[in-house]
Amino acid sequence: MSRFWSETTRNITPYVPGEQPRDKIRIKLNTNENPYPPSPGVLACLRELANEDLRLYPDPDSRELCETVADYYGLSAEQVFPGNGSDEVLAFLFQTFFGPDDLIAFPDVTYSFYPVYARLYGIPYREIPVREDFSIDFSGYPGEAKGILFANPNAPTGLYIPPAEIEALLRARPDTLIVVDEAYVDFGNQSVVPLVKKYDNLLVVQTLSKSRALAGMRIGLAMGHPELIEGLNRIKNSFNSYTMDRLAQAAAICAFRDDAYYREINGRIIRERERFKETLRGMGIPCTDSKSNFVFASLPGLKGPDALRLLREQGILVRNFAGNPRIADWLRITIGTKEDMDRVVEAVKKIMER
Ligand SMILES: *Cc1c(COP(=O)(O)O)cnc(C)c1O
Repeated sequence: MSRFWSETTRNITPYVPGEQPRDKIRIKLNTNENPYPPSPGVLACLRELANEDLRLYPDPDSRELCETVADYYGLSAEQVFPGNGSDEVLAFLFQTFFGPDDLIAFPDVTYSFYPVYARLYGIPYREIPVREDFSIDFSGYPGEAKGILFANPNAPTGLYIPPAEIEALLRARPDTLIVVDEAYVDFGNQSVVPLVKKYDNLLVVQTLSKSRALAGMRIGLAMGHPELIEGLNRIKNSFNSYTMDRLAQAAAICAFRDDAYYREINGRIIRERERFKETLRGMGIPCTDSKSNFVFASLPGLKGPDALRLLREQGILVRNFAGNPRIADWLRITIGTKEDMDRVVEAVKKIMER
């Protein structure tokens, strides 16, 4: 603590990202990274672009990237906003749409960065309990909320809400901004991006970190009505004109062009996820019906932090959210390769038999 810290700096509780270990962890399944590399096309394009042009500033509007994403989803470029990771996109949207007199609401079990941003930007928020089975119950959301945020599939439960239910919410609450964080949508789910053309109260956030194997590159997206996107650009251009560097813009464009590659690797992850869930259930281990690239499970008779430690002792790193009492005894286990998951199953067996 320095005497120069502002009141905000003194009072904020920062988000704590999953550990990036330097020790002997053999299997890293704690931050939902893709176990497969970016597409050969993305890597070739990055190698080609690591040249003297890096002395030049990038396109501040990421125009070609916006057009590529727009083509992919059947939108216009004015409906796309890229950012330096979807965390940055989320930070911008909190500042763009909400202030100290607005109320926002999100589930009590969801991406734990939302309350951090709400506190950082001084936005009043309410955390609405999910049901006992962790599903989101929209009927409990306050009528006066100006914004509702949730991840779909949700994190860290992996539970998925089909587009029809989200469309009903958009219709029922035309004056509430509905933010759907689709970080895990590509793992076998249907996106609500097409609804952007029909509803001006929908903002969809996506990331290239998980399904496009580019966590190290930092690329996120928001898609919504052109006036929502214009608002995001007003805030972004008041903060940093060049959030997207040349390499990030190019990598993102190539990633959207290499769709076949990503469908293939994510197909493998989906199959492994289903197999892993079934194996755990067969061992009597409760787990949610995750539609994401992780499984959410609770080892019977073990506190979450203890289960985490026992796996770590066997060289396997997973994630536990001990700070949230509703999920303190649950583990979020990223789906890795088949070999990774076989070793997790062996490690869990050992723990259950000890
Ligand atoms: C991983 C994740 C993010 C952040 O993604 P980045 O693009 O890497 O910043 C945002 N929301 C959810 C729900 C996530 O799981």
